[in-house]
This record gives sequence, C-alpha cells and structure tokens, in this order.
Amino acid sequence: MENKILSEYDAVIVGAGPSGCITAKYLSEHYNVLLLDQLKIPRDKPCGGILVEEAQNFIKENLPTIPEDVFSSPKYLDMRNIDWDNESELDIKRGLYNINRINFDRWIFELCKKNIFVSHQTRCLGFEVEKDSIDITIKKAGEEINIKCKYLIGADGAFSIVKKKLSNNEQIRQYVAMQEFIGLENEFMDKFLFIYDNDITDFYSWAIPKDNNLVVGSALLKEGATEKFHIFKQKLKEKLGIQGQITKKEGWLINRPRYEKDVFLGLGNVFLIGEAAGFISPSTAEGISFALRSGFNCAKAISNHSKNPFKEYEDISSSLINEIILKFAKSEMLSDPVKRKNYFLKK
Ligand SMILES: Cc1cc2nc3c(=O)[nH]c(=O)nc-3n(C[C@H](O)[C@H](O)[C@H](O)COP(=O)(O)OP(=O)(O)OC[C@H]3O[C@@H](n4cnc5c(N)ncnc54)[C@H](O)[C@@H]3O)c2cc1C
Repeated sequence: MENKILSEYDAVIVGAGPSGCITAKYLSEHYNVLLLDQLKIPRDKPCGGILVEEAQNFIKENLPTIPEDVFSSPKYLDMRNIDWDNESELDIKRGLYNINRINFDRWIFELCKKNIFVSHQTRCLGFEVEKDSIDITIKKAGEEINIKCKYLIGADGAFSIVKKKLSNNEQIRQYVAMQEFIGLENEFMDKFLFIYDNDITDFYSWAIPKDNNLVVGSALLKEGATEKFHIFKQKLKEKLGIQGQITKKEGWLINRPRYEKDVFLGLGNVFLIGEAAGFISPSTAEGISFALRSGFNCAKAISNHSKNPFKEYEDISSSLINEIILKFAKSEMLSDPVKRKNYFLKK
C-alpha cells in the first residue's frame, strides 16, 4: 500500500532500483526514509540479467537465499568470448547467475520496503540545498509537492537528475544499448556469448539464453547505432545461424566511465549511488554488484552518525572505485583488436 507523503524525512532516496532499495533497507534501521520512483515498482529495466560473482557474494553475505522464480533457465552460465576481428574463441568458466531482471528487482524491493515510506510514480524534479535541510520538489499525479530532508540519495540510474544538478552536467561517455529477445525453438548452449567486432562497436555485443528466448544486444556508439545493430544481426545469422521471431525490443543508454572523475559520489549531504554515481564496469557494463555494494556503503556511512558521513562514504567506497579504475585499462585493451588477440592468447 502507498503511504501519504509527509513534509519531512530524515532521508529521501530517488530511485527504487537495486541501489536505492538496499540503501533504504539499511537506513531504515536508524532513520525515517522515503523511497520514491517515477515508475510503479516493480518496473522493467533493459538488462542482460546476469549476476557476477561480486553480486552473488554480496547477496550470500547480506540477503536471504535468492528464490527460484528469480532465476531464468539455464540457471548458471559460463562465458564464451568470440572475437570476430581475429576469428578466435575463448571459453571461460564463470558460473554467472542468469536472472529474470523484473523478478530480481521485485524480490529486492519486497525485502527492503519494510519500515520505509514508499511513493510510486513520483518523479523528483530537482532540489535546493539550504542551511539546515535539503528542499526537494517532486511530482505525483500531476501535483508538485515540496518536501524536506537531511540526506538526499540519488539512486536514479544512468539519467540521474540528482547528479545533473550537482555536477554541471559533466558528461560521462555514453553508449546506446539495443537489445532484442529472439524466440528459441531449440535449446541453446549454457553460455553467455561476448562478441567483439570493431566494425560494429569498440565496446561489445552479446547473446544470452534466457528461458525461451535468446537475448541479443549490442552497446553502440550513438552515431549510426541502428545501422550497426543491423550489421550485428546480419553477422549473427551468417556466422552463428542465430535468427528467429523477435518477441521484445529494447533500447537504453549505458554509461561507460573512462576516467576516475567519472565516478562521482556527491557533495555534502547529497549522496550518489549505483549507476547515478558512475558505478558501472567499463569493460562489461555490469552494474548490479556496484549498485548493491555502493548502496550498502552509503547506508553504512550515514548510519554511523559520524561528523562527516560523506567523507566516510568516500573512504569506504575507495575499494569500489579502485575496481572501476582497474577495469579502465582492461576495457581499452579489449577495444583494440591487436591487444585483444594477445590478451586472449595469454588466457
Ligand atoms: C542493456 C543493458 C544490459 C545490462 N546488463 C546488465 C547485466 O547483465 N548485469 C549487470 O549487473 N548490470 C547490467 N546492466 C547495468 C545495470 O542494469 C545497472 O547498472 C543497474 O540497474 C543500476 O542499478 P541502480 O539501482 O543504480 O539504477 P537503476 O536500476 O537504473 O534504477 C534507477 C531507478 O531510478 C528511477 N528514476 C530515475 N530518475 C528518476 C526521477 N527523476 N525521479 C524518480 N525516480 C527516478 C528509475 O525509474 C529507476 O527505477 C545493464 C544495463 C543495460 C542498459
């Protein structure tokens, strides 16, 4: 059930994806919290629905066992790197969890929503930092409402309005993700295909078996994206025999950080977490593990009642930032066919 919106909260979290939900869960142990989302939760989010080891470990350590209906089939996937520039392949054992993203986000939301105020279909329009509070303007059912809080947490993903307000619109590198679900008539191998081809993109393309579909997608430079996606699908058909009835089409933006400054944690009592903070892998676009862990760190920093929670958030997030920094070199190397060839040869 929805809560009536009060005029004041200790903390307001904008965005009820994995990062916002986790922060809400842990902050609610100490504070009164409003979690709002412009959509009705659970909502769909274009995603490959893959949980890497870091996400699996966070869940094992902090949350109950993942229910079976959150998994897709096949439940576990290994990785096959296909390099069309160098005509080579490399299989890597990974045991990635293959999930249904709507069910995963619903599960996280249901776990976290106890003891918090939730407002669906409520959009954050902006905020002003005042001397003793943060004044936020939100819009619900056509009506603009002003609320106050001590802590504002931007968990509002790739298009973060909270970040925009803080960082003078400084642009992080962005790609267009185009993705289609192709109906599968026969069983597909239990592998997540990572496909590299610089005629299509300097990032990568993918094919992921998911229940009765094969999810095929590509992270593309904005210019000529539609044309490049068409070339990708043509090559999928010619080289791997992949084609069929399209059951769903999606498009979204993916942030691809390139410099340390692309990870921006906020300012004062305004905190950024998850993809809003730039926490997303520049080599794979994996973001759920970062969303969960940065959300957890943020709640921990604020709940410690230290003099400077923001400094504490920065300190405990340094290992996450280092993880991203380490991936810069890897992502640049994978973008280059010559370096990539040597990298895969050494594996
Ligand atoms: C095509 C694609 C495939 C991906 N595949 C994977 C994958 O397989 N594995 C993986 O780990 N990661 C993947 N990612 C990345 C992953 O989806 C994100 O990193 C992750 O969802 C980030 O979580 P979050 O909580 O930070 O933000 P989000 O999940 O994006 O949630 C943000 C929420 O904020 C809400 N919101 C936004 N603006 C406002 C506003 N002004 N007011 C109110 N609410 C607002 C949105 O409605 C949304 O619900 C993929 C991304 C894309 C685009």
